[in-house]
Amino acid sequence: MNAALDLLPWHEGPFQQLYQQWAAERLGHAWLITGPEGVGKGVFARHFAQRLFCRAAEGRVACGQCKDCQYFAAGTHPDWRFLRPEKKLITIDQVRDSMDFSFTHSQRGGYKVLCLAPAEAMNANAANALLKLLEEPPPMTLLLLLSHQSGLLLPTLRSRCQQLKIPLPEQEAALAWLQQQDCPNAGELLLRAGGAPLRALALAEAGRLSEHENVLGLICDILRGRSTALAAARKCDKLSVAGLVEHLMQDLVLLLKASQAGQTLEGSSLQSLQAIIADGVQPRRSQRLLHALYINLERIRVTALASNNANSQLLLEQVFAEWGKVARLTAAGRLDV
Ligand SMILES: [Zn+2]
Repeated sequence: MNAALDLLPWHEGPFQQLYQQWAAERLGHAWLITGPEGVGKGVFARHFAQRLFCRAAEGRVACGQCKDCQYFAAGTHPDWRFLRPEKKLITIDQVRDSMDFSFTHSQRGGYKVLCLAPAEAMNANAANALLKLLEEPPPMTLLLLLSHQSGLLLPTLRSRCQQLKIPLPEQEAALAWLQQQDCPNAGELLLRAGGAPLRALALAEAGRLSEHENVLGLICDILRGRSTALAAARKCDKLSVAGLVEHLMQDLVLLLKASQAGQTLEGSSLQSLQAIIADGVQPRRSQRLLHALYINLERIRVTALASNNANSQLLLEQVFAEWGKVARLTAAGRLDV
């Protein structure tokens, strides 16, 4: 089973509700799917659309293999439209465009699915245009309006849709799911996310990024001779060594590719790092330097994994000491890297 096709556990009930109506050929043409932000309404809509398109599924989950599933996974299914706000609004032009989509024949011979999220981002003109579509629905077209503030929708829009609620999961189920996703501090993040698991996961990702920005900042300090490996390691004592090293290795690949292509990297800290290294040595030498560093970091990563993060402080020091070596080589402009 492809994990991407598995329903989120708290989607099972609402999904079953829609699926049964479809299986009994009683599926309404327009649905307002409500629920708090971060409960996964977009994921839900995608799962259901893919199931409608799939030709080979036997149960309620798409097969993930057939031509339609492949198109869907690649984001190129011709009978699927997902409207998102442009500059915070879903405009009348976007809705008109999708009307054309709704009134033309299905490309793959089955349903066409039009999804808008969040539906309350439609301005009044867009909402009125959509109303026409709801009043005279073209055959074999399913409209999914996703909303976390459905009170802001035109009452006439709301009343023409069948409603489906995706509630927040129970705290225990949400925590169990977050832990399966390797989410650190799941309890605290879930609390900050108001109980919405996908929002908690997004917060974790943002936290990881800002932590990593800090690490890159420390490395820049080492390269500039303003800090030492020991001092940097002490500031990172809560991080997983293997995770940190993996992220740094990805950065090295980016730095190497950018150096080979003569490009400047995006992202403030990574850009600073690139500038400091470029300032110290010629590109060919810096590439050899980065390559050697990559190999040394891989060695540390393997040790960290094997020791299950025991001696993590020592390993962190080694990670930063590797950058200390780079600092000495670039500062001295040594040739024999
Ligand atoms: Zn399929």
